[in-house]
Amino acid sequence: MDTKYIFVTGGVASSLGKGIIAASIGKLLQARGFNITIQKFDPYINVDPGTLNPYEHGECYVTDDGRETDLDLGHYERFTGIRTSANNNVTTGRIYQNVIDKERRGDYLGKTVQVVPHITDEIKRAMLLNGKMYHYDFVITEVGGTVGDIESLPFLEAIRQLKWELGTNAVCVHLTYVPYLAAAGELKTKPTQHSVKELQSIGIQPDVIVLRTEHELNAGLKKKVANFCNVEPDCVVQSLDQPTIYEVPVRMQEQGLDAAILRKMGLPVGETPGLGPWRNFLERRHKATREVRIGLVGKYDLQDAYKSILESLSQAGTYNDLKVRTLFVNSEYITPENVTEKLSGLDGVVICPGFGQRGIEGKITAARYCRENDVPTFGICLGMQMMVIEFGRTVLGFSDANSVEMNPTTKHNVIDIMEEQKNITNMGGTMRLGGYACTLSEGSRVRTIYGKEEIRERHRHRYEFNSDFRTRYEEAGMMCTGINPDSGLVEIVEVPSHRWYVGTQFHPEYSSTVLHPHPLFLDFIREAAKK
Ligand code: GLN
Repeated sequence: MDTKYIFVTGGVASSLGKGIIAASIGKLLQARGFNITIQKFDPYINVDPGTLNPYEHGECYVTDDGRETDLDLGHYERFTGIRTSANNNVTTGRIYQNVIDKERRGDYLGKTVQVVPHITDEIKRAMLLNGKMYHYDFVITEVGGTVGDIESLPFLEAIRQLKWELGTNAVCVHLTYVPYLAAAGELKTKPTQHSVKELQSIGIQPDVIVLRTEHELNAGLKKKVANFCNVEPDCVVQSLDQPTIYEVPVRMQEQGLDAAILRKMGLPVGETPGLGPWRNFLERRHKATREVRIGLVGKYDLQDAYKSILESLSQAGTYNDLKVRTLFVNSEYITPENVTEKLSGLDGVVICPGFGQRGIEGKITAARYCRENDVPTFGICLGMQMMVIEFGRTVLGFSDANSVEMNPTTKHNVIDIMEEQKNITNMGGTMRLGGYACTLSEGSRVRTIYGKEEIRERHRHRYEFNSDFRTRYEEAGMMCTGINPDSGLVEIVEVPSHRWYVGTQFHPEYSSTVLHPHPLFLDFIREAAKK
């Protein structure tokens, strides 16, 4: 069949969960046997989110092929198990960069280069690229921002043109918000009507409307939206607040969101898939009541900054029939004097990734407390580096052990800059990024956990364990048990005498999904819950 395109736009407000709706549509179509991908188009000027502060933009998600992307791609992968790639996240900055590069090459043959048609043509090309290259049945495209923003106009114009060109092979799903006015005791559809009008004024008629709401919407209200917005009544569905995001696909299926899309595209609807494994996951999740308390030692006091880690922990909890309660511990305020008070009630500790000086001494102090008190500890990227520094300082007696990221002149540069990073001056997209192979040593804990010798995990860093110190570390009990077979870089350290003390230079959290939770998180949670 021809590739079909589903565009997901948003109105009224941001943060309504467009990414979750896009991921749910993907999940539901996939359950019907379709081959799908989901991509995100972001209206900001940064070429990718790699240079953005997590306070601005939440976590930066990394694809296996090494692109720094929007965190919504994490939802797409976790919901559907697909692997996204560099083509799956495009920003205004990248579109302009491509167009300007073409202009400099002389590709426009003396023409004046303009937003319409040159920018919009480039957006259309990028929107169709995955479908053309991989012949997906469905390509779902989420557009960041809200209808009415100046920034998203070229994207919406591209969608208008594509809808016109593709006919029934394209639909637009518009997500809006229905506020509840407590004083009046009423739910209001006016913002939705305005948002749809805005979309229509650009020339896009939404085919399906998803109404985000905190209160159940009655049939009359949905009918009103259908009437005022030129949408069929069964193409209006509500997205009511759920205990977790993982309920959303089931709620959307109950209301026939996927069926409505198929009907709109002239495709046979057929039987509703059972979503068996997904429902089993939800059931197990609801049944789990015993709590395991995990401390997240990091410097970003904001949920979205550690999105994939939080999701990985929570999935691992479900598969251990446990409820994971994560407690954020700001590493900036951890000192040797208060560390016991801050960490003593926890069953396990994750030392988080990060960049720069701020909060790192707190991470080192936390690593020491956890190592000396046998608290299961998982260090990820910068977290692993802090474990190495702590071990160097306390056990090996290198009082100035550090990463050259923090102290460029230390004699004990136990974490050093990678050779290939030494001459890099451009910050965007130049880290060691994406999936690399790693060989696990025989007899190590990680080898048992993964149950195989060769693994592949995603990276995002410039610094690495300095192998000159490897023998000293191993003699003292911190083992390098994961090594890149090509470069010899140390990817995993562990302390075998400890209950669970593992640091990974890579980011396992990027590849944990609902149906395939990550083995390291599973084992970490299992061990943490033991006491
Ligand atoms: N700042 C460290 C490095 O660049 C760790 C990066 C990270 O935690 N992702 O090596």
